[in-house]
Amino acid sequence: MSDKKITLIGAGLVGSLAAVFLAKRGFEVEVFERRSDMRKENISAGRSINLALANRGIYPLEQVGLMDKVNAMLTPMKGRMVHDLEGNLNLQPYGQKQEEVIYSVSRADLNTLCMDAAEAEGNVNIHFNQKCIGVDFENNLLQLKDEITGKEYEKPFTRVIGTDGSASAVRDAIHAVHSDHNYAEQLGHSYKELCIPAGSDGDFQMEPHALHIWPRGGYMLIALPNLDKSFTVTLFMPNDGEISFENINDKDKLNAFFAEHFPDAVPLLPELEKDYFENPTGHLATVRCSPWHYQDKALLIGDAAHAVVPFHGQGMNCGFEDVSELDAQIKKYAGDWEKIFSETDKLRQPNGNAIADMAIENYITMRDSVRDDKFLMRSALAFELEKRFPDYFCPRYSMVMFHRLPYAEAQSRGSIQEEILQQLTKSIESVEQVDYSEAEELVKAKLQPLVLNP
Ligand SMILES: Cc1cc2nc3c(=O)[nH]c(=O)nc-3n(C[C@H](O)[C@H](O)[C@H](O)COP(=O)(O)OP(=O)(O)OC[C@H]3O[C@@H](n4cnc5c(N)ncnc54)[C@H](O)[C@@H]3O)c2cc1C
Repeated sequence: MSDKKITLIGAGLVGSLAAVFLAKRGFEVEVFERRSDMRKENISAGRSINLALANRGIYPLEQVGLMDKVNAMLTPMKGRMVHDLEGNLNLQPYGQKQEEVIYSVSRADLNTLCMDAAEAEGNVNIHFNQKCIGVDFENNLLQLKDEITGKEYEKPFTRVIGTDGSASAVRDAIHAVHSDHNYAEQLGHSYKELCIPAGSDGDFQMEPHALHIWPRGGYMLIALPNLDKSFTVTLFMPNDGEISFENINDKDKLNAFFAEHFPDAVPLLPELEKDYFENPTGHLATVRCSPWHYQDKALLIGDAAHAVVPFHGQGMNCGFEDVSELDAQIKKYAGDWEKIFSETDKLRQPNGNAIADMAIENYITMRDSVRDDKFLMRSALAFELEKRFPDYFCPRYSMVMFHRLPYAEAQSRGSIQEEILQQLTKSIESVEQVDYSEAEELVKAKLQPLVLNP
């Protein structure tokens, strides 16, 4: 088979963007997608209808010239709008510069745009309803199943890229022949999508330019705006225990729970009972595996390699960054596929692990810390240190969301910065009392100069 052929398994967000990049490099791309064509049928209900797109995801879209079209799909969110129990609102900005916002975007619209763009290249074929059920690496054969007819068949391949999400069949096939580790850590919490529709005047019922959060300690509600002026709302809660999906299992308990814990959201959720009982409960897990590749034959990217919990809004962004890195390696090692795959694996794995850790930590931040005065003081101080020492200090959230330095570096700098923030605030009550000469000494002694967008 020609060295110009590449097979992708999965035409989700990462697979369809990867198809665009590969097609632009002149490859003939065959994509096998388990589901039917979402452009013809609505298949996304109840499964993260919208997502936060941030700088790391925007950059690869810019590289292939898609951002002009994507821009029209975006609703900027400037910060977290925190709803307390009394219904008071407090906007906590994500950044301190005008451009430091994240964007709500419809999963289906973005996926559709990437699939359309891939097919428009002329050298991409997406085969829907075709599920990968295995890979025979010895004979270079993909094992596929037609989901409509039930027929199983084999197809030869030269190189296969697994973009088949968190339950990846390609990952299982790679790890059947060579595995250092391959496991999913269950979070013990799940999610349910609900909806705040547009108001009777056709407008948003809450501030549209924010990610709304109802933090309640062990659980939380969040809401992201949609272009049709509705909000997609997600309830995150433990699987079992007193307040849990297991326990809140009838209409009375559900209504009592919402009335007590999210009173200001209740009038905005007219279909609460229907959404809660009819929408699927999504489970949350972190997938960690190594290796992400097999010889010069197979590579994993996106959730197939590193499914993360959604609390940093980075799963797709990280997957898009994988695609951009793969493209850079294809350019660098033209034709040496063992090197292309092994380098992509080596460069991305530490970053996949870092964002997985930070996403779990951010669950605590979102559901709990955003209500804590000490946390808010440290956040305010982090902004102040960024202003005073921009060559050294950048809040961790900003490094992850607004810049492109490797996640692993954002994580390690973030821990040093947290120590500095803890030290400077340990015996004071407000940011005005910070000793900035001590701050300068600490920042310059402990942190190397910053390169935000290498
Ligand atoms: C509630 C929630 C909120 C989220 N919010 C955000 C956010 O705000 N920002 C963000 O960046 N990320 C977010 N994410 C993460 C994001 O959804 C994923 O990281 C992203 O979808 C990964 O894209 P992917 O293409 O790798 O995998 P997927 O989107 O899972 O796509 C995989 C594709 O492969 C297909 N497939 C699967 N198995 C097979 C098979 N055996 N054969 C053929 N095809 C197959 C699937 O049908 C699918 O089309 C969120 C996730 C959840 C659950």
